[in-house]
Amino acid sequence: AKELGRNTFQFYTEALTHAAIHRLSLETRLRRAVQNDEFVLHYQPQVRISDGRVVGVEALLRWQDPDIGLVFPDEFIPVAEETGLITRIGEWVLQTACRQMQEWLSNGHGPDTVAVNLSPRQIQLNDTPALVDGILQSTGLAGRHLDLEITETALMEQGPDAARILHDLKALGVRISIDDFGTGYSSLAYLQRFPVDELKIDQSFVQKIPDTSGAAEIAATIIAMGRSLGLTVVAEGVETDAQLEFLRNHNCGVYQGYLASRPVPALVLQQWLTVRTD
Ligand code: C2E
Ligand code: CA
Ligand code: CA
Ligand code: CA
Repeated sequence: AKELGRNTFQFYTEALTHAAIHRLSLETRLRRAVQNDEFVLHYQPQVRISDGRVVGVEALLRWQDPDIGLVFPDEFIPVAEETGLITRIGEWVLQTACRQMQEWLSNGHGPDTVAVNLSPRQIQLNDTPALVDGILQSTGLAGRHLDLEITETALMEQGPDAARILHDLKALGVRISIDDFGTGYSSLAYLQRFPVDELKIDQSFVQKIPDTSGAAEIAATIIAMGRSLGLTVVAEGVETDAQLEFLRNHNCGVYQGYLASRPVPALVLQQWLTVRTD
């Protein structure tokens, strides 16, 4: 038994060391990525359900690692958050998305809005409104074309500063969107406290439609509540015709998901938009 105990201990130590090494090398590579500009944005269309018009796109971050290839955000955003690297990465994302949106608008075939994900750290930073303001100025993009997505849980965990920062952002004319809505059990009071324009129903509910487990009822309730508050409601993660049909029947405004398109590079999206509006 003693022998086993030691082996188990050794096993855990090794596992921990591996995790620590992995974490360290990820951090090192991430710092290099920031320096070498190894990031790209992919864009996923947001489609108005009533007429199929692409009203928006969401910018989603990818890391083009020269050794590994394309790395998805779930693998590096947490480390970027912990190390504070997210501030510089987030700035790059905002700058790139706004520049791209302005280019689409000046070419005359853009969507109405580009959505950018803000990390919890970004909504705690007092500099964020000034940063966004500066980027809108330098790219010439009007605030109404920028949608800032903040997760419901990030919003709930923030102190009193978050409300003020969001109001300062709102004053720039941008739109505020609550991401992953329905997962954080926030109350209606939150929606009143923050200057919100849009709710995005979390894909965990959408993907269970149509079902009997209650997820569909939650989605329907969010749609009804959002509508009654005059908010745009976006369903994300829509993959099937049956899901889209359910959303249409419940008067959901906009959908996003593989059923319309996966997130794609800017050029591919542009071609896709041109074909669809022909
Ligand atoms: P999110 O903001 O909830 O983005 C939606 C995620 O669902 C994206 O994953 C998207 O590719 C995926 N998705 C879209 N449609 C479907 C579908 O029909 N089925 C399925 N199964 N998935 C779908 P992605 O691009 O891997 O991003 C994951 C998360 O990483 C995002 O979740 C967001 O929280 C975060 N993220 C992405 N880009 C950024 C960024 O620029 N900054 C920050 N702070 N976070 C980001
Ligand atoms: Ca939007
Ligand atoms: Ca999002
Ligand atoms: Ca989401």
